[in-house]
Amino acid sequence: MNEHDSERIAGLLEQDGLEPIDDEAKADVVVINTCCIRENADKKLYGTLGTMKAWKDADPSRQIVVAGCLAQKDRELVRQRAPWVDVVLGTHNVHRATELLNESRVSGAVTEILDEAIVDDYALFPSALPVRRETSYRSWVTIQIGCDNTCAYCIVPAVRGREISRPFEGIVDEVRGLAANGVTEIFLLGQNVNSYGRDLSLASRRAGDESVRVVPQFAALLRAVGAVPGVQRVRYMSPHPKDMREDTLLAMAETTSVCEHLHYPLQAGSDAVLAAMHRGYTAQRYLDRLAEARRTIPDLAVTTDVIVGFPGESEADFMQTMEVAATAQFDAAYLFIFSPREGTTAAAMVDKFCDPAEVSERYNRLKVVLDRTAVQQHRARIGRVEEIVVEGTSRKNPDHLTGRTRQNKLVHFPVSEKLRIGTYARVEIIDAARFHLTGRLLEVTALPTHRTRLAVASA
Ligand code: SF4
Repeated sequence: MNEHDSERIAGLLEQDGLEPIDDEAKADVVVINTCCIRENADKKLYGTLGTMKAWKDADPSRQIVVAGCLAQKDRELVRQRAPWVDVVLGTHNVHRATELLNESRVSGAVTEILDEAIVDDYALFPSALPVRRETSYRSWVTIQIGCDNTCAYCIVPAVRGREISRPFEGIVDEVRGLAANGVTEIFLLGQNVNSYGRDLSLASRRAGDESVRVVPQFAALLRAVGAVPGVQRVRYMSPHPKDMREDTLLAMAETTSVCEHLHYPLQAGSDAVLAAMHRGYTAQRYLDRLAEARRTIPDLAVTTDVIVGFPGESEADFMQTMEVAATAQFDAAYLFIFSPREGTTAAAMVDKFCDPAEVSERYNRLKVVLDRTAVQQHRARIGRVEEIVVEGTSRKNPDHLTGRTRQNKLVHFPVSEKLRIGTYARVEIIDAARFHLTGRLLEVTALPTHRTRLAVASA
């Protein structure tokens, strides 16, 4: 979400006549889009701002913008700690980036943080904003902002506000426009995508339409987006296990373009820890729904997030997480050590914080289990033929390209001739490692039709 906000700010500035530049020394404006989900975000921000003071002092007409969720959280503190910052804006007024920048040029530094999103004009959603997409064949599409859940460790509801779904037709229209411009892969974004639309149907009921059922509309959205001509792949992030419904699984199975990949955040395998986290499901319910997903969607890859060392986690709790992880057979996992985020419920559970040495040891033990299953899942694909979309040249070997399978796995494969980013091809999988597969190119199946930005060199 944060990266997509960066694209939107870049799009607005570009529309206002600015150009992206690699060399900071030659820049007129530097935008720092912060994310306080990450650990030590504040240290990094204030450290970076400290080093940027000299840059600003060298030419006071230069401007510094601080945006994102850390700005939303810290508000006036940003300018108190770094008075040389020109603009501070939050998560609810990304669309004001250019205006605030211009305003600060005329009347000095400005901090504008809104407490809530403006629901009525949907100005926050990207269809209303120019976007400078970093990847030409794939596009993020925001379907919802904010979150109504109360996960004890999570700062998102505080910095992104309550859950607001974007109108259904607006999303499908945006996807049609993207597909018409050669975008073939759509990535639907939201904090809790499978509750998408519940607020919209509730609003219709309140407006007097008794025929509307107050249910999420995510399954219908998947089908509608997946049916747009030209769209070959649909992905989404993130669903919440407590809200995963059968209709969503069926929509995934029955819509050809929806990829066979489910990111399904477990967080913990102990019911006591899950309850303390306010996750709203038990380990058994999680596993049952996962089994149903695998039955419904053939060849489904499943990835997850797990937090180790949540306050109060005992060795017995941790062992339950180990067992669930081993049973679930994940294709990949993002493993985190709990760290408190100021302002969250979990941050106040200081008397229950776990011993860091013990947590680090648990982390390593769980990593062994997760890595082992990832390798097993990857090895099981050796000998299969997979569709990939080319993402670029392999970072490790310039003679290899890197592509991504429908299951979201990276495949490195040698080529004698370069293929353009966004090309679809079939590869045979010949080897597997923890984070990637190795393949052999069989045939190109579709060439990209998106327009490519060409780098312009000046003498
Ligand atoms: S559902 Fe996700 S975004 Fe919402 S509070 Fe929980 S972890 Fe945070």
